[in-house]
Amino acid sequence: MIRKVLIANRGEIAVRIIAACREAGLATVAVHSEADRDSLHVRLADESVCIGPPYAKESYLNITAIIAAAEITGADAIHPGYGFLAENAHFAEVVQECGLTWIGPPPNAIRLMGDKAVARKTVAARGVPVVPGSQEPLASREEAVELAQTIGFPVILKASAGGGGKGMRVANDARELRHAFDTARHEAERAFGVGDVYLEKYLTHPRHIEIQVMADQHGKVASLGERECSIQRRHQKLIEESPSPVITPELRKAMGDAAIAAAKAVGYEGAGTVEFLFQDGQFYFMEMNTRIQVEHPVTELVTGVDLVLEQLRVASGQRLSFSRNPKLSGHAMEFRINAEDPETFAPSPGTVSFLALPGGPGVRVDTHLYRGYRVPPYYDSLLAKLIVFGQNREEVLRRARRALSMFVVEGVKTTIPLHLRILEDRDFREGNLSTRFMERFLASP
Ligand code: ADP
Repeated sequence: MIRKVLIANRGEIAVRIIAACREAGLATVAVHSEADRDSLHVRLADESVCIGPPYAKESYLNITAIIAAAEITGADAIHPGYGFLAENAHFAEVVQECGLTWIGPPPNAIRLMGDKAVARKTVAARGVPVVPGSQEPLASREEAVELAQTIGFPVILKASAGGGGKGMRVANDARELRHAFDTARHEAERAFGVGDVYLEKYLTHPRHIEIQVMADQHGKVASLGERECSIQRRHQKLIEESPSPVITPELRKAMGDAAIAAAKAVGYEGAGTVEFLFQDGQFYFMEMNTRIQVEHPVTELVTGVDLVLEQLRVASGQRLSFSRNPKLSGHAMEFRINAEDPETFAPSPGTVSFLALPGGPGVRVDTHLYRGYRVPPYYDSLLAKLIVFGQNREEVLRRARRALSMFVVEGVKTTIPLHLRILEDRDFREGNLSTRFMERFLASP
C-alpha cells in the first residue's frame, strides 16, 4: 500500500500528480529548487522540501537530495513525472533499494528502451516493424556508407542514447554521411557520454503517431489508442490530438497490437508510449518512452481513463481499472503554451502580471500558473497545456479557437498567437499533416 507520494518534479506535471494523489486519498510531498519556492506545486502539496540550488543538476537531478527528502518526510513512494529523472534506470533502482515504491516501469525495462539501438533490435525480434536501418551501433564510417547504399539515401543518424531530438543528423549522400558520422558521434559523446550511433532510412513526409499503453503487475497490457503528434518544431511537439485523422480502426488495432508486443518484450509495467512513424499506410517503431508523457491528457479525454490515477493503482499492485482496450470516443487536441516568443521562439521568462484561463464546454487547462508567478529561466518553457475536447474534430477546432482567444497571459510572451495562426492553416484544418508541417508553415508568409 502507498500512503505518501513524493513528487520528484516541478511545474504543471507536479500539480497534475498532486491532483491524482488527492483523488486517491494519498498524502503528497513536493520537492523544489531554490528558484521554485513560490511554485504552485509547493503550495498545493501537503509538505515540501527544498532540495538544492536552481540548476536542475543540483536539485531536480540530485538523487541523494531527493531520497533524503523522502526519508525525512516518511514518503513511501516516488513519482518522477516526465523529464529530469523519469527515465533514469539507476534512480529507479536506488528508489527501490531504499524500500520505496517506484511509480514507473521496472528499471530493466527503462534500461532496454533507453538504448534506442537495443530497443529497435528487441522489438524487431517480436515482429514489430522498424524503419529499415542498422541492427547494431555502427562501427565505422564505411560501414555506415555501405549500409546507407543498400537501404537508399536519405538516411538519418541517431545517437543510441539520444533523446529530446538531440544527436540526429540527416544525410542525402555518401559524402554528407561521412561528414555527419563524425559530427554525430562527437555530439552524442558530449551530450550523453556514449558515442554510439546507428542509422535509419530517413522518411521524407512521415506522421508521428504514438500509442499509449498501460500494463499492470499481473501480466495485463492494454493499448489506449493513438495520439497524432506531427505538429513539431525541431522535434519538439507543439500540438497533439486523438484520434489521428488518418488512423482507421484496423490500423489502430494493428498499431495497438504492435505497441503491446513492444511493451511485453521488455516486461513493461505502468504507463508508457510507443512512438511510430507513419508514412504511405505503413507504420514503423521509433522508440518507447517509459514514462507518463506531456500529451497524456488527450488520451484521457477520449478514453475516460485517468492515466496518472492508473499509474498509482498499478504501482500499488492493483489491476488495471478496465478489462478491455478502451474505445475512443469524441476528439481531443492539446496545445502547448510555452513561455516563448511566438515568432522567434526565444525563451521569455518573467513575471505573470495578468492571467485569465479559459473554461467552458470541452476545455481543460493543466498548469502551474497564477498571477504574480515568476517564470524562472532555468527549466523548460512549458507554462500550460490547453486541452480541448468535442464530439468531432470540427467541434474541437471551433472550441480551440474560442479557448485560445480567451486565454490571456501578460508579462511573458507565449505561443498562444502561434497556435491561433496554425488553426487558420488549411492543411492543419484538413488534417493534412506530417512532421514537416511546421517547417513549411514557418517558411510561408
Ligand atoms: P528523440 O528521442 O530525440 O525525440 P525520436 O527518435 O523520437 O528522437 O525522433 C524525434 C523526431 O525525429 C520524430 O518525431 C520525427 O519527426 C523525426 N524522425 C526520427 N526518425 C526519423 C526517420 N527515420 N525519418 C524521418 N523523421 C524521423
